[in-house]
Amino acid sequence: MAQVNAAREILRRLHDVMAGKAAAQVKLNQVVKLVAAELGSEVASIYLLRDGVLELFATQGLAQSAVHVTRLSMGQGLVGNIAARREPLALAEAKAHPDFAYRPETGEDDFHSFCGVPILRREAAIGVLAVQHREPRNYAEVEIEALQTVGMVLSELIHGAGLVDDAQAARMRAANSGPTRLNGLKLVDGLARGVAVFHQPRVVVEHTVADDVDAERVRLVDAFARMRTQIDDMMGRSEFVAGTDHHEILETYKMFAYDEGWARRINEAIETGLTAEAAVERVQSRNRLRMRSIDDPYLKERLTDLDDLANRLLRILSGQLGTAAQMGITGDAILIARNLGPAELLEYDKRHLKGVVLEEGSLTAHVIIVARAMGVPVLGRVDQLFANVNDGDELIVDAGNNALLIRPTAATIKSYQAMRALKARQAEQWAKVRDLPAISKDGRQITLYMNAGLLDDAVAIPLAGADGIGLFRTEFQFLVSATLPRRERQQSLYRGVLEAAGDKPVVFRTVDIGGDKAVPYIDGDEEDENPAMGWRALRLALGRSGLMKVQARALLEAAAGRALNVMFPMVSEPWEFAEARALMEQQRERLARSGRPVPSEIHYGAMIEVPALIEQLDVLLPMTDFVSIGTNDLTQFLFAADRANPRLADRYDWLSPAILRVIRRVVCAAALHDVPVTVCGEMGGRPLEALALIALGVERLSITPAGIGPIKAMIRSATLEPLSDSMQDWLAQPGVNIRAELSTAAKRQGLSF
Ligand code: PEP
Ligand code: MG
Repeated sequence: MAQVNAAREILRRLHDVMAGKAAAQVKLNQVVKLVAAELGSEVASIYLLRDGVLELFATQGLAQSAVHVTRLSMGQGLVGNIAARREPLALAEAKAHPDFAYRPETGEDDFHSFCGVPILRREAAIGVLAVQHREPRNYAEVEIEALQTVGMVLSELIHGAGLVDDAQAARMRAANSGPTRLNGLKLVDGLARGVAVFHQPRVVVEHTVADDVDAERVRLVDAFARMRTQIDDMMGRSEFVAGTDHHEILETYKMFAYDEGWARRINEAIETGLTAEAAVERVQSRNRLRMRSIDDPYLKERLTDLDDLANRLLRILSGQLGTAAQMGITGDAILIARNLGPAELLEYDKRHLKGVVLEEGSLTAHVIIVARAMGVPVLGRVDQLFANVNDGDELIVDAGNNALLIRPTAATIKSYQAMRALKARQAEQWAKVRDLPAISKDGRQITLYMNAGLLDDAVAIPLAGADGIGLFRTEFQFLVSATLPRRERQQSLYRGVLEAAGDKPVVFRTVDIGGDKAVPYIDGDEEDENPAMGWRALRLALGRSGLMKVQARALLEAAAGRALNVMFPMVSEPWEFAEARALMEQQRERLARSGRPVPSEIHYGAMIEVPALIEQLDVLLPMTDFVSIGTNDLTQFLFAADRANPRLADRYDWLSPAILRVIRRVVCAAALHDVPVTVCGEMGGRPLEALALIALGVERLSITPAGIGPIKAMIRSATLEPLSDSMQDWLAQPGVNIRAELSTAAKRQGLSF
């Protein structure tokens, strides 16, 4: 059997076969004939998957009477083995293999050696191409590769002729890859079932045989150049600063993108007559094969990076540049990504997006806050995600148990359904307390607001049982918009929210853009090496007073005739608050002067999320009508721990004395100045953390809507006085494990979390 030239000759002739007008069966007969002739083998056969079984569709060299008669299940015999494992198999002595299944009707007794490769479509095996030789012989790697190349072209021919059912093949692949469980970290609680959809979809190569090899070579060079520019550009972007995980990945990408060996191998595949796309895919399937046999997690990770990059190259070559959101998702989908930005997530259709699984991710990253607002469960930090999940696999995201169930068995699906039923019963219990106040057994009343950012959230206030909206993140509208939202659009959103809230209060926070909430149409600071601490939020808004004035007008007009509550994010010094307030007041006066309606009253608040401000509460508090503690940012600045860094995601505890003592300081200072305090970070949405905050004296929480039911139920079963006393004791002593103590004390009261 010959070498690369043989593959080239076969491809040339396959091209003619495919272009011909003959029926599919005739074409398959021609293919086996020419494969046997060009590769010098006595036998060439094609098995295709029909009704879940591999059926001999065409052969040269075996008995013709066996065609459409010989059938093997997935995993059965050598052919079934190749399809099930989606890997080639080459044997000098076929009969010696334990899986060899003798099929007398084929008349294969005379043949000793055997070499077969899977015919793959969308990574699912749809058939097998095999050659056999009379003499025992070892097959060289180039021979196997030549066969794989033919297999690739066959896949196109078979699909084009409609000889197999793609959906059935995908199901077969799922059935044969078996159920798997991966552990991760709960980022947004919930339980969801759906089909795996890759945020960056894998490209399906439709045309495999080149019309003009030189042209394909040029296309590859161009695609490489574009890919290298993209990577270089990304490396220059501020969110990928050195030292972060993203940067590390990009370094690897860069190494591969400039790797001459990789480009050379793809060029060699083009030489055999493949299109540039097919050549990339051809080389990549070899890499994927290698990946499966590697145990070292580091190397495996790097090969996954290469896979990702190959997919990028394919997207450039094929012009399929969109994300799954841009291409549109249908049916219940579980989104698979390395990481996502908040704007990227918001692009997905809420009706179909049931869950998100990330290889990275951390609890207080804005994308997670957006997911929480959308009510979508998220599991993060799932190792080996890409190596284990195939596009189209059935998945169950069980965030509460930190688990991803891939290709679940019928029994797992049943227990998932039981869990869902249990959750529904729990929700019914919470629904019973929904309209009751959050009053503890010893008579302390807590106000439970919800966090929001979308108009739909406001409509959900009564459903959630919230006392109002304690934090409306106005930047969500900016994040979902391709251009700066005009004043009319802003105003109509705010008016809609106020109308939906009825007589319940709403606190609007002015835009918190920048950091990980970058929008393309507003220049941040390109030089920002540390965007979370950079030109962000109120700093950016005061720096671009035009932006702030437009938002001020939109808010004032939307709240005409009723009370407006507005607060400013990332206040670091009292003068920043004063300046923002003055800007709003100027706008109010202008409106009033021109005779237009203005709000009946305005309450101004400051977010407390920068530690420096806590040292100046004596200056700040007399100027404010209320304050709101943003524990997400406060924690990141207090611990100097990037809230979006997955490695730091569970390193520091929200119940550490450092945080609790700082919050207590704010609560005490605010009480002295008679200024109401709310806590609006994610911390307050977790029952034990909420209990700690209440024990510290916090009387208002603004939390995720889904948290209101459980937290209200908890408050109504708690006796708070003794917990407050204990909290003071724990904070006074060094080295107390407050999480453990509080949890024991809560359990003693019969509270469960
Ligand atoms: C916070 O920082 O805690 C907060 C509520 O604001 P954001 O999460 O939007 O930064
Ligand atoms: Mg914040």
